[in-house]
Amino acid sequence: MRRLSLISIVLVVLFSCNEVEKLEQQTKKAKNIILLIGDGMGVTQIYAAMSVSEKPLSFEKFKHIGFHKTHSATDFVTDSGAGGTALSTGNKTRNKCISVDTSGNPLKTILEYAEENQLATGLISTSSILHATPAAFIAHEQSRYNYENIALDFLDVDIDVFIGGGKKQFVDREDKLNLIDSLRKNQYNVIDGINNFNPEADGKFAVFTADEHNPEYVNGRGDMLPVSTEKAIKSLSKHEKGFFLMVEGSQIDWGGEDNDIDYVINETIDFDNAIAKALEFAIEDGETLVIVTSDHETGGLSIVDGDLETKTIITEFSIDYHTAVMVPVFAFGPGAEEFGGIYENTAIFEKMMKAFGFSK
Ligand code: ZN
Ligand code: MG
Repeated sequence: MRRLSLISIVLVVLFSCNEVEKLEQQTKKAKNIILLIGDGMGVTQIYAAMSVSEKPLSFEKFKHIGFHKTHSATDFVTDSGAGGTALSTGNKTRNKCISVDTSGNPLKTILEYAEENQLATGLISTSSILHATPAAFIAHEQSRYNYENIALDFLDVDIDVFIGGGKKQFVDREDKLNLIDSLRKNQYNVIDGINNFNPEADGKFAVFTADEHNPEYVNGRGDMLPVSTEKAIKSLSKHEKGFFLMVEGSQIDWGGEDNDIDYVINETIDFDNAIAKALEFAIEDGETLVIVTSDHETGGLSIVDGDLETKTIITEFSIDYHTAVMVPVFAFGPGAEEFGGIYENTAIFEKMMKAFGFSK
């Protein structure tokens, strides 16, 4: 009788340990999230880069992979404004809108939720930092082309680090305001060029890498994206409560619009180098969720032939704009298993909110 009760005590203890472990796994939160968006990057753009790359790409390291449906509230084929808004706010809106709903009301973004929860925040882009994708995380505008208003919106959010082009809209403005002065008044270190950004220094950083858009990877931008990613992570990870960072490889999209396969491949491999920096940190850190996705595919790219030995591919584009196909999502770190399956683009916001443990 005594023996039996001892066994049952042991069983109860064993069972509860197991339950606790399970619960811990279920509720394991991400301290940090790094969201990397390859604008215009579908499965074919990735496989084209994989097929010609001399080294294996980081994409192949992910074990949790899904797809999202990209359509906007108004169009089967989304633009980058509505696509960015879906990812940043969890709402489908009209094409051309930046984090406002279909009636024009502002929608709170994941970056703004992160700020509200005392996390550090960052944005990086290989285009202008005011372009649709990064803008969707910080600005609220009915048109993605209101660049001067988008620059003003940067002053309403206490973002810790932003890196990209677009300096012109901060200084050479129709309203004659000097927003560089305003940034300085808001305690930003305003820096020209990624090489002058010292991530060991304390403070908030506005890093301008071009007056308008950054050049192509092969035309002088070089390693700006992976270097920026590494430096931003170094700067943001000093904050004890964690951080949210969005990194955009903007020009995969422009290669697609130009129907220029070399442009697409060079930009995708450069983007992959930024993913490698994020993964490197996340593997070491253990509390960082890395998500890699796109806002839509561009160009209707297909690979019709090729040779793996000579690393050559033959490709065809079907259009010089975006297409409606689903795009892939890759995830690593706490909460990564949530990203398997097929879902709407808006679900990525919800999954990030859950991973951070934020409530609306
Ligand atoms: Zn786009
Ligand atoms: Mg973009």
